[in-house]
Amino acid sequence: MEYDLRSALPQLVPKAIAWAEAQNSFIGQIGQPLNDALLSVARNVGVMRPELIRVAEVPQLPLPEDQALQQAAIATGLLGPHMTGMTFGYAIYICRGQSTIRLLSHEFRHSFQYEQAGSIAAFLPTYLQQIATVGYHNAPFEIDARAHEIDHA
Ligand SMILES: [Zn+2]
Repeated sequence: MEYDLRSALPQLVPKAIAWAEAQNSFIGQIGQPLNDALLSVARNVGVMRPELIRVAEVPQLPLPEDQALQQAAIATGLLGPHMTGMTFGYAIYICRGQSTIRLLSHEFRHSFQYEQAGSIAAFLPTYLQQIATVGYHNAPFEIDARAHEIDHA
């Protein structure tokens, strides 16, 4: 069944923002600050306040409880078994065992994007609109994050 994210988006965006803000505050409680090597990786991909970043390693990325939001996240490939990281502002989930410099530098670049937007509520509508129109892989924010991946600290 074709899932039309574009028509669902207006209802989903406020829910996505609320969910992302809740994840951000949870990671703020359980996440770890970056060591010196990772602070420098974050700086190198443009993050202005890398000391604010927190990383939480989790067995799997959490799915939203809201059914419409969960369906949208899975249908677009934003969340699912092959996804190993997700960023909400300065708060980052990494799946256990997947913590590579390449993945971290990608997620740090998303922190940079949030930083430039100014907030989760300012970033997410644009990001989700990109995914709804051109898909996850071709979303400009994803292309930019991939372009800033590095292999070594
Ligand atoms: Zn990404």
